[in-house]
Amino acid sequence: MSLQNPERETSGVSPHATNFIRNIIDEDLATGKHQSVVTRFPPEPNGYLHIGHAKSICLNFGLARDYQGRCHLRFDDTNPEKEELEYIQAIERDVRWLGFDWGEHKYHASDYFEQLYAYAEELIRRDKAYVDDASAEDIRLRRGTLTEPGQDSPFRNRSVEENLDLFRRMRSGEFPDGSRVLRAKIDMAHPNMVMRDPTLYRIRRQTHPHTGDKWVIYPMYDFTHCLSDSIEGITHSLCTLEFENNRPLYDWVLDELELECHPQQIEFARLNLESTIVSKRKLLQLVREEHVSGWDDPRMPTLAGMRRRGYTPESIRLFAERIGISKAETWIPFSVFEEAVRDDLNPKAPRVMGVLRPLRVVIENYPEGQVEEFEAPYFPDDPPRMGSRKVPFSRVLYIEQEDFMEVPVPKFFRLAPGREVRLRRAYIIKCVGVVKDEAGQVVELRCTYDPDSRGGDPKDGRKIKGTLHWVSEEHSLQAEVRLYDRLFAHDRPGTTEGVDFLQELNPDSLVTLQHSRVEKSLEQVTPGQRFQFERQGYFSVDPDTTPGRPVFNRIVTLKDTWARIMKGAK
Ligand code: ATP
Ligand code: MG
Repeated sequence: MSLQNPERETSGVSPHATNFIRNIIDEDLATGKHQSVVTRFPPEPNGYLHIGHAKSICLNFGLARDYQGRCHLRFDDTNPEKEELEYIQAIERDVRWLGFDWGEHKYHASDYFEQLYAYAEELIRRDKAYVDDASAEDIRLRRGTLTEPGQDSPFRNRSVEENLDLFRRMRSGEFPDGSRVLRAKIDMAHPNMVMRDPTLYRIRRQTHPHTGDKWVIYPMYDFTHCLSDSIEGITHSLCTLEFENNRPLYDWVLDELELECHPQQIEFARLNLESTIVSKRKLLQLVREEHVSGWDDPRMPTLAGMRRRGYTPESIRLFAERIGISKAETWIPFSVFEEAVRDDLNPKAPRVMGVLRPLRVVIENYPEGQVEEFEAPYFPDDPPRMGSRKVPFSRVLYIEQEDFMEVPVPKFFRLAPGREVRLRRAYIIKCVGVVKDEAGQVVELRCTYDPDSRGGDPKDGRKIKGTLHWVSEEHSLQAEVRLYDRLFAHDRPGTTEGVDFLQELNPDSLVTLQHSRVEKSLEQVTPGQRFQFERQGYFSVDPDTTPGRPVFNRIVTLKDTWARIMKGAK
């Protein structure tokens, strides 16, 4: 993994970290085994793509890009009962959004059903497959265990003719669902259970989104996948480690059929991201049972959710690059993802001011009706970029509730009765009074300002420790702000024996603030725009925004960046 060296990836067009798969490809090109690289991304259209898929997409499409080869998008649609058009469309949208393009090369495994059927007949003719009439239960019982060999089915030694006849009648719909299967004839005593005469075809009367009612038999994944790869001329078939045991079967099918194109299956470790889950089944459950607002809930690790949250495709690609590719199963801390997001947004997101939980401040010695404007660059570190806007200052302002403490704790350097702070870019103010409601809650501060501190620096050089962001009441607008936290309170949800993953949901993963205030310059924002609210984090404009009432999602907090702002703050 390349976590030790994050500078490398952020420095722009630096070469990609090498990994064991790139080494294999380099070798294959050097020896002339292949002239070019063809990969594929093969999602099953039974759910939305998530951050784990993004790792695979970045790998497969990234290799095709770097080696000037191509990457196919192939829908692995062999399970008609689970697949839906909604998912197909979402997958295409998400892969494009991530920044990749399959060009002409969009395929469906179902495109190959006729060819796959012909290959199955060929295996039968070679006496390498047979029709088994045994029940699913019987087949299971005869499979043996990891320590005991299985037993041959009583139907294993049928003649080629009988098998061909039965298989054709399976296809033509003569037999009920589940009554017969086609199995590979390999070895019931094979130490690898996958090789104990695996099922190749089953009977299932189910309308398929692509082939309709044409088929009543459907090929199994292990038979379909290797042959689809071969048909498409894939050179390197990259998959996650759980398919390691299936590799001998992948090779067996292609070898027995003596196919010219025999892609190499290479396994890599799947992405596990802490505080989140990357299982389509569990994500579906979160959506169905309404633990989240939908597939695009900004807390979801789906690409749709991440897009809505405001994460950029660049940050997801940067993250994929940083975690690298290996064979070691690990859990990546969520903070590694967030660092990539910050590193990507830092140079991109203009700085503005927004007060999330406003506390009213009246500057008693500032004339009523007077307004001063302070020039505020969108990129304080690089003012010429994108220029600046004017931030108005007036008698009534808002600061953050948490920037005031009536009885300050040690090391609290912000506002308190009798204390001074700097309002960023404006003036130094001093708290001279506190207004409370009947419940004793502080609802307003009375302050004075130092007219000699215009711009934020006191004339006499006295030290002012705290710098606060603020907005003018009259020159700001109300906004809704949605603050997100980890979706799961547990680091590795779903991994504790006897604990349901739903019990590990973080009850505080969403906090909605209805009364935040942002500077007027944000009146015309459009969904998808991103900003840094000084001191508060990176925010995106949510599609729920209506004219004059923006809705912001917090993408990520600033964390470490705050120290830097303080240093350069005025
Ligand atoms: P799930 O287990 O969530 O249903 P899946 O692997 O069945 O996921 P597919 O649609 O078959 O989902 O996945 C398409 C491709 O994405 C496969 O090649 C798979 O290996 C890869 N992939 C899925 N999850 C991850 C992950 N967490 N990390 C890396 N690659 C993944
Ligand atoms: Mg799968």
